[in-house]
Amino acid sequence: MRRDAAWNPPEAGATGIFHQHNKTDNCIDWPCFNANFSGVRIISSIATMQQLAKKWQRMGKRIGIVPTMGYLHSGHLSLVREARQHVGRAGRVVLSLYVNPTQFGPKEDFSKYPRDLKHDLKLCRATGVDVVFTPGDKEMYPNKSENGFSTYVVEESLSRMMEGASRPTHFRGVTTIVAKLFNVALPDVAVFGAKDWQQATIIKRMAADLNFPVKIIVAPTLRERDGLAMSSRNKYLVGDLRRQANVLWRAIQAAQAAVKRSKAVPAVKLKSDLKRLIESEPDAQLDYVEFFEPDTLSPVLKVTRGTHLALAGFLGKTRLIDNAQL
Ligand code: AMP
Repeated sequence: MRRDAAWNPPEAGATGIFHQHNKTDNCIDWPCFNANFSGVRIISSIATMQQLAKKWQRMGKRIGIVPTMGYLHSGHLSLVREARQHVGRAGRVVLSLYVNPTQFGPKEDFSKYPRDLKHDLKLCRATGVDVVFTPGDKEMYPNKSENGFSTYVVEESLSRMMEGASRPTHFRGVTTIVAKLFNVALPDVAVFGAKDWQQATIIKRMAADLNFPVKIIVAPTLRERDGLAMSSRNKYLVGDLRRQANVLWRAIQAAQAAVKRSKAVPAVKLKSDLKRLIESEPDAQLDYVEFFEPDTLSPVLKVTRGTHLALAGFLGKTRLIDNAQL
Protein backbone atom coordinates (compact mmCIF):
# COMPACT_ATOMS: atom_id res chain seq x y z
CA MET A 1 0.00 0.00 0.00
CA ARG A 2 1.43 3.37 -1.02
CA ARG A 3 2.05 5.85 1.73
CA ASP A 4 2.75 9.54 1.06
CA ALA A 5 5.30 11.05 3.38
CA ALA A 6 4.45 14.68 2.81
CA TRP A 7 1.40 16.36 4.19
CA ASN A 8 -0.64 18.69 1.99
CA PRO A 9 -3.58 20.70 3.27
CA PRO A 10 -7.00 19.47 2.17
CA GLU A 11 -8.22 20.91 -1.12
CA ALA A 12 -11.74 21.97 -0.28
CA GLY A 13 -13.56 23.68 2.52
CA ALA A 14 -10.78 23.69 5.10
CA THR A 15 -11.58 25.93 8.02
CA GLY A 16 -8.75 25.13 10.37
CA ILE A 17 -5.02 24.53 10.56
CA PHE A 18 -3.47 21.14 9.87
CA HIS A 19 -0.28 20.12 11.61
CA GLN A 20 1.94 17.19 10.75
CA HIS A 21 1.55 14.31 13.18
CA ASN A 22 3.10 14.86 16.54
CA LYS A 23 4.55 11.63 17.85
CA THR A 24 5.22 12.81 21.38
CA ASP A 25 1.62 13.71 22.08
CA ASN A 26 -0.82 11.94 19.83
CA CYS A 27 -1.32 12.23 16.12
CA ILE A 28 -3.70 15.18 16.17
CA ASP A 29 -2.67 18.22 18.14
CA TRP A 30 -4.52 20.94 16.30
CA PRO A 31 -7.13 23.00 18.09
CA CYS A 32 -10.60 21.57 17.67
CA PHE A 33 -10.81 21.12 13.99
CA ASN A 34 -13.68 20.99 11.57
CA ALA A 35 -12.91 20.66 7.87
CA ASN A 36 -14.19 19.12 4.71
CA PHE A 37 -11.87 16.87 2.71
CA SER A 38 -13.65 16.55 -0.64
CA GLY A 39 -16.77 15.00 0.76
CA VAL A 40 -15.47 13.61 4.05
CA ARG A 41 -16.06 15.91 6.98
CA ILE A 42 -13.22 15.90 9.48
CA ILE A 43 -14.13 16.66 13.07
CA SER A 44 -11.80 16.76 16.06
CA SER A 45 -14.11 18.40 18.59
CA ILE A 46 -16.30 16.22 20.82
CA ALA A 47 -18.94 18.95 21.11
CA THR A 48 -19.17 19.35 17.32
CA MET A 49 -19.40 15.58 16.76
CA GLN A 50 -22.05 15.20 19.46
CA GLN A 51 -24.14 18.09 18.12
CA LEU A 52 -23.96 16.69 14.60
CA ALA A 53 -24.97 13.21 15.82
CA LYS A 54 -27.94 14.72 17.67
CA LYS A 55 -28.94 16.59 14.52
CA TRP A 56 -28.75 13.36 12.52
CA GLN A 57 -30.93 11.65 15.11
CA ARG A 58 -33.53 14.43 14.85
CA MET A 59 -33.49 13.94 11.07
CA GLY A 60 -34.15 10.22 11.55
CA LYS A 61 -30.81 9.15 10.12
CA ARG A 62 -29.22 5.92 11.32
CA ILE A 63 -25.63 6.30 12.52
CA GLY A 64 -22.88 3.71 12.17
CA ILE A 65 -19.44 3.96 13.74
CA VAL A 66 -16.20 2.16 12.91
CA PRO A 67 -13.64 2.78 15.67
CA THR A 68 -10.02 2.57 14.44
CA MET A 69 -6.52 3.68 15.30
CA GLY A 70 -5.89 4.71 11.69
CA TYR A 71 -3.18 3.61 9.25
CA LEU A 72 -6.11 2.12 7.43
CA HIS A 73 -6.03 -1.03 5.31
CA SER A 74 -8.64 -3.04 3.43
CA GLY A 75 -9.75 -4.77 6.64
CA HIS A 76 -10.79 -1.42 8.13
CA LEU A 77 -12.53 -0.46 4.89
CA SER A 78 -14.53 -3.69 4.89
CA LEU A 79 -15.92 -2.56 8.27
CA VAL A 80 -16.94 0.78 6.73
CA ARG A 81 -18.82 -1.07 3.98
CA GLU A 82 -20.50 -3.24 6.60
CA ALA A 83 -21.54 -0.11 8.53
CA ARG A 84 -22.95 1.42 5.34
CA GLN A 85 -25.02 -1.69 4.70
CA HIS A 86 -26.54 -1.38 8.15
CA VAL A 87 -27.36 2.35 8.07
CA GLY A 88 -28.32 2.52 4.38
CA ARG A 89 -27.51 5.19 1.84
CA ALA A 90 -29.45 7.79 3.79
CA GLY A 91 -27.62 6.96 7.02
CA ARG A 92 -24.32 8.34 8.26
CA VAL A 93 -21.03 6.47 8.73
CA VAL A 94 -18.47 7.84 11.18
CA LEU A 95 -14.95 6.42 11.22
CA SER A 96 -13.09 7.36 14.36
CA LEU A 97 -9.38 7.61 14.00
CA TYR A 98 -7.53 7.87 17.31
CA VAL A 99 -4.43 6.14 18.61
CA ASN A 100 -5.71 5.70 22.14
CA PRO A 101 -2.85 6.03 24.64
CA THR A 102 -4.68 4.32 27.51
CA GLN A 103 -4.78 0.98 25.73
CA PHE A 104 -0.99 0.82 25.35
CA GLY A 105 1.26 -0.46 28.12
CA PRO A 106 4.33 1.56 29.12
CA LYS A 107 6.66 -0.68 27.07
CA GLU A 108 4.42 -0.91 24.01
CA ASP A 109 4.56 0.84 20.65
CA PHE A 110 2.30 3.86 21.29
CA SER A 111 4.74 6.55 20.08
CA LYS A 112 5.89 4.37 17.14
CA TYR A 113 2.40 3.28 16.10
CA PRO A 114 2.12 4.01 12.34
CA ARG A 115 0.21 7.13 11.39
CA ASP A 116 -0.67 8.55 7.96
CA LEU A 117 -3.68 10.82 8.18
CA LYS A 118 -3.50 12.06 4.61
CA HIS A 119 -3.64 8.57 3.17
CA ASP A 120 -6.35 7.54 5.64
CA LEU A 121 -8.52 10.47 4.56
CA LYS A 122 -8.15 9.49 0.90
CA LEU A 123 -9.27 5.95 1.69
CA CYS A 124 -12.20 7.23 3.76
CA ARG A 125 -13.31 9.47 0.93
CA ALA A 126 -13.07 6.60 -1.57
CA THR A 127 -15.10 4.31 0.72
CA GLY A 128 -17.93 6.74 1.39
CA VAL A 129 -17.23 7.63 5.02
CA ASP A 130 -19.30 10.70 5.99
CA VAL A 131 -17.27 11.89 8.98
CA VAL A 132 -13.78 11.11 10.21
CA PHE A 133 -13.76 11.83 13.92
CA THR A 134 -10.17 12.37 14.92
CA PRO A 135 -9.78 13.99 18.32
CA GLY A 136 -6.51 14.85 20.03
CA ASP A 137 -5.43 13.63 23.47
CA LYS A 138 -6.39 16.90 25.14
CA GLU A 139 -9.90 16.52 23.80
CA MET A 140 -10.27 12.85 24.74
CA TYR A 141 -8.46 12.92 28.08
CA PRO A 142 -8.62 16.54 29.30
CA ASN A 143 -6.14 17.38 32.08
CA LYS A 144 -5.16 13.71 32.43
CA SER A 145 -1.62 14.53 33.52
CA GLU A 146 -2.97 16.80 36.31
CA ASN A 147 -5.33 14.09 37.57
CA GLY A 148 -8.27 15.75 35.86
CA PHE A 149 -9.41 12.54 34.18
CA SER A 150 -10.12 9.58 36.46
CA THR A 151 -13.10 7.57 35.21
CA TYR A 152 -12.57 4.29 33.36
CA VAL A 153 -14.83 1.51 32.13
CA VAL A 154 -13.59 -1.92 33.24
CA GLU A 155 -14.99 -5.27 32.12
CA GLU A 156 -14.05 -7.67 34.88
CA SER A 157 -14.33 -11.18 33.49
CA LEU A 158 -13.63 -11.68 29.78
CA SER A 159 -10.76 -9.19 29.97
CA ARG A 160 -8.62 -11.29 32.25
CA MET A 161 -7.34 -13.98 29.89
CA MET A 162 -5.34 -14.01 26.66
CA GLU A 163 -4.70 -10.39 25.58
CA GLY A 164 -5.70 -9.21 29.04
CA ALA A 165 -3.17 -11.52 30.70
CA SER A 166 -0.36 -10.36 28.40
CA ARG A 167 -1.42 -6.67 28.38
CA PRO A 168 -2.98 -5.99 31.80
CA THR A 169 -4.41 -2.48 31.23
CA HIS A 170 -5.20 -2.91 27.53
CA PHE A 171 -8.92 -3.68 27.71
CA ARG A 172 -9.56 -0.99 30.32
CA GLY A 173 -8.29 1.47 27.70
CA VAL A 174 -10.35 -0.14 24.95
CA THR A 175 -13.65 -0.23 26.85
CA THR A 176 -13.13 3.33 28.09
CA ILE A 177 -12.45 4.79 24.66
CA VAL A 178 -15.25 2.83 22.99
CA ALA A 179 -17.74 3.93 25.66
CA LYS A 180 -16.64 7.53 25.10
CA LEU A 181 -17.01 7.15 21.33
CA PHE A 182 -20.51 5.73 21.79
CA ASN A 183 -21.42 8.76 23.93
CA VAL A 184 -19.95 11.16 21.36
CA ALA A 185 -21.19 9.69 18.06
CA LEU A 186 -24.48 8.21 19.38
CA PRO A 187 -24.35 5.26 16.95
CA ASP A 188 -27.16 2.82 16.20
CA VAL A 189 -24.58 0.27 15.02
CA ALA A 190 -20.88 -0.15 15.67
CA VAL A 191 -18.70 -2.44 13.57
CA PHE A 192 -15.68 -4.28 14.95
CA GLY A 193 -13.38 -6.83 13.33
CA ALA A 194 -13.31 -10.53 14.15
CA LYS A 195 -9.53 -10.05 13.89
CA ASP A 196 -9.71 -8.85 17.53
CA TRP A 197 -12.15 -11.53 18.67
CA GLN A 198 -11.66 -11.04 22.41
CA GLN A 199 -12.03 -7.27 22.03
CA ALA A 200 -15.30 -7.64 20.07
CA THR A 201 -16.65 -10.07 22.69
CA ILE A 202 -15.80 -7.66 25.50
CA ILE A 203 -17.41 -4.72 23.67
CA LYS A 204 -20.58 -6.76 23.18
CA ARG A 205 -20.60 -7.54 26.91
CA MET A 206 -19.97 -3.89 27.82
CA ALA A 207 -22.78 -2.66 25.54
CA ALA A 208 -25.19 -5.19 27.08
CA ASP A 209 -24.11 -4.62 30.69
CA LEU A 210 -24.22 -0.81 30.45
CA ASN A 211 -27.31 -0.61 28.19
CA PHE A 212 -25.71 1.23 25.31
CA PRO A 213 -28.47 1.39 22.66
CA VAL A 214 -26.13 0.20 19.93
CA LYS A 215 -26.01 -2.97 17.86
CA ILE A 216 -22.52 -4.49 17.77
CA ILE A 217 -21.59 -6.09 14.45
CA VAL A 218 -18.53 -8.34 14.12
CA ALA A 219 -17.17 -8.47 10.56
CA PRO A 220 -14.79 -11.12 9.13
CA THR A 221 -10.99 -10.86 9.15
CA LEU A 222 -9.41 -9.81 5.86
CA ARG A 223 -6.13 -11.50 5.01
CA GLU A 224 -3.19 -10.99 2.70
CA ARG A 225 -2.71 -13.51 -0.10
CA ASP A 226 -0.49 -15.71 2.07
CA GLY A 227 -3.04 -15.77 4.92
CA LEU A 228 -1.44 -13.15 7.17
CA ALA A 229 -4.26 -11.17 8.81
CA MET A 230 -4.17 -7.54 7.67
CA SER A 231 -2.95 -5.25 10.43
CA SER A 232 -1.48 -1.77 10.71
CA ARG A 233 1.42 -3.36 12.59
CA ASN A 234 2.35 -5.46 9.53
CA LYS A 235 4.26 -2.35 8.46
CA TYR A 236 6.92 -3.34 11.00
CA LEU A 237 7.51 -6.68 9.25
CA VAL A 238 10.49 -6.04 7.02
CA GLY A 239 12.60 -8.52 5.07
CA ASP A 240 12.32 -12.15 6.08
CA LEU A 241 10.04 -11.33 9.04
CA ARG A 242 7.23 -10.73 6.56
CA ARG A 243 7.72 -14.20 5.06
CA GLN A 244 7.81 -15.83 8.50
CA ALA A 245 4.76 -13.92 9.75
CA ASN A 246 2.16 -16.12 8.09
CA VAL A 247 3.18 -18.91 10.47
CA LEU A 248 0.26 -17.79 12.69
CA TRP A 249 -2.10 -18.55 9.81
CA ARG A 250 -0.31 -21.83 9.12
CA ALA A 251 -0.81 -22.73 12.80
CA ILE A 252 -4.55 -22.02 12.50
CA GLN A 253 -4.71 -24.22 9.42
CA ALA A 254 -2.81 -26.99 11.21
CA ALA A 255 -5.32 -26.86 14.07
CA GLN A 256 -8.20 -26.99 11.59
CA ALA A 257 -6.66 -30.05 9.93
CA ALA A 258 -6.10 -31.77 13.29
CA VAL A 259 -9.74 -31.30 14.29
CA LYS A 260 -10.91 -32.56 10.91
CA ARG A 261 -8.73 -35.67 11.28
CA SER A 262 -9.63 -36.73 14.78
CA LYS A 263 -12.83 -34.87 15.80
CA ALA A 264 -11.70 -34.19 19.42
CA VAL A 265 -8.10 -33.29 20.20
CA PRO A 266 -6.76 -32.56 23.72
CA ALA A 267 -6.11 -28.81 23.96
CA VAL A 268 -2.81 -29.41 25.77
CA LYS A 269 -1.45 -31.52 22.92
CA LEU A 270 -2.60 -29.12 20.22
CA LYS A 271 -1.08 -26.19 22.12
CA SER A 272 2.33 -27.83 22.24
CA ASP A 273 2.12 -28.86 18.56
CA LEU A 274 1.28 -25.30 17.52
CA LYS A 275 4.03 -23.83 19.69
CA ARG A 276 6.55 -26.12 18.00
CA LEU A 277 5.25 -25.18 14.55
CA ILE A 278 5.34 -21.45 15.25
CA GLU A 279 8.76 -21.50 16.83
CA SER A 280 10.19 -23.45 13.91
CA GLU A 281 10.47 -20.02 12.28
CA PRO A 282 13.74 -18.46 13.46
CA ASP A 283 12.30 -15.11 14.60
CA ALA A 284 8.93 -16.29 15.90
CA GLN A 285 8.04 -16.75 19.54
CA LEU A 286 4.61 -17.79 20.80
CA ASP A 287 3.04 -15.63 23.50
CA TYR A 288 -0.11 -17.71 24.00
CA VAL A 289 -2.46 -20.04 22.20
CA GLU A 290 -5.89 -20.67 23.68
CA PHE A 291 -8.91 -22.81 22.76
CA PHE A 292 -12.30 -21.61 23.97
CA GLU A 293 -16.05 -21.29 23.41
CA PRO A 294 -16.52 -18.44 20.92
CA ASP A 295 -19.22 -16.50 22.79
CA THR A 296 -18.11 -16.89 26.40
CA LEU A 297 -14.34 -17.25 25.86
CA SER A 298 -14.47 -20.18 28.34
CA PRO A 299 -11.43 -22.40 27.79
CA VAL A 300 -12.06 -25.97 26.60
CA LEU A 301 -10.02 -29.09 27.34
CA LYS A 302 -11.10 -30.94 24.17
CA VAL A 303 -10.83 -29.12 20.87
CA THR A 304 -13.65 -29.94 18.45
CA ARG A 305 -15.34 -28.45 15.41
CA GLY A 306 -16.70 -25.03 16.44
CA THR A 307 -14.06 -24.42 19.11
CA HIS A 308 -12.43 -21.02 18.74
CA LEU A 309 -8.65 -20.65 18.63
CA ALA A 310 -6.78 -17.41 19.39
CA LEU A 311 -3.05 -16.90 19.42
CA ALA A 312 -0.45 -14.18 19.82
CA GLY A 313 3.19 -14.26 18.93
CA PHE A 314 6.22 -12.11 18.38
CA LEU A 315 7.87 -11.86 14.97
CA GLY A 316 11.09 -10.22 16.00
CA LYS A 317 9.83 -7.32 18.13
CA THR A 318 6.42 -7.13 16.48
CA ARG A 319 3.52 -8.67 18.35
CA LEU A 320 0.82 -10.15 16.12
CA ILE A 321 -2.52 -11.76 16.98
CA ASP A 322 -4.90 -13.95 15.03
CA ASN A 323 -7.87 -16.23 15.64
CA ALA A 324 -10.39 -18.45 13.91
CA GLN A 325 -13.22 -20.83 14.55
CA LEU A 326 -12.18 -24.43 13.92
P1 AMP B 1 -7.31 -1.02 14.83
O1 AMP B 1 -7.13 0.18 13.96
O2 AMP B 1 -6.21 -2.02 14.71
O3 AMP B 1 -7.64 -0.67 16.25
O4 AMP B 1 -8.59 -1.78 14.27
C1 AMP B 1 -9.81 -1.12 14.12
C2 AMP B 1 -10.87 -2.15 13.80
O5 AMP B 1 -10.53 -2.82 12.60
C3 AMP B 1 -11.03 -3.21 14.89
O6 AMP B 1 -12.40 -3.51 15.08
C4 AMP B 1 -10.29 -4.38 14.30
O7 AMP B 1 -10.74 -5.64 14.76
C5 AMP B 1 -10.60 -4.21 12.81
N1 AMP B 1 -9.61 -4.91 11.98
C6 AMP B 1 -8.26 -4.86 12.12
N2 AMP B 1 -7.67 -5.68 11.22
C7 AMP B 1 -8.67 -6.25 10.51
C8 AMP B 1 -8.70 -7.19 9.45
N3 AMP B 1 -7.59 -7.73 8.95
N4 AMP B 1 -9.91 -7.55 8.94
C9 AMP B 1 -11.06 -7.02 9.44
N5 AMP B 1 -11.08 -6.12 10.46
C10 AMP B 1 -9.91 -5.75 10.99
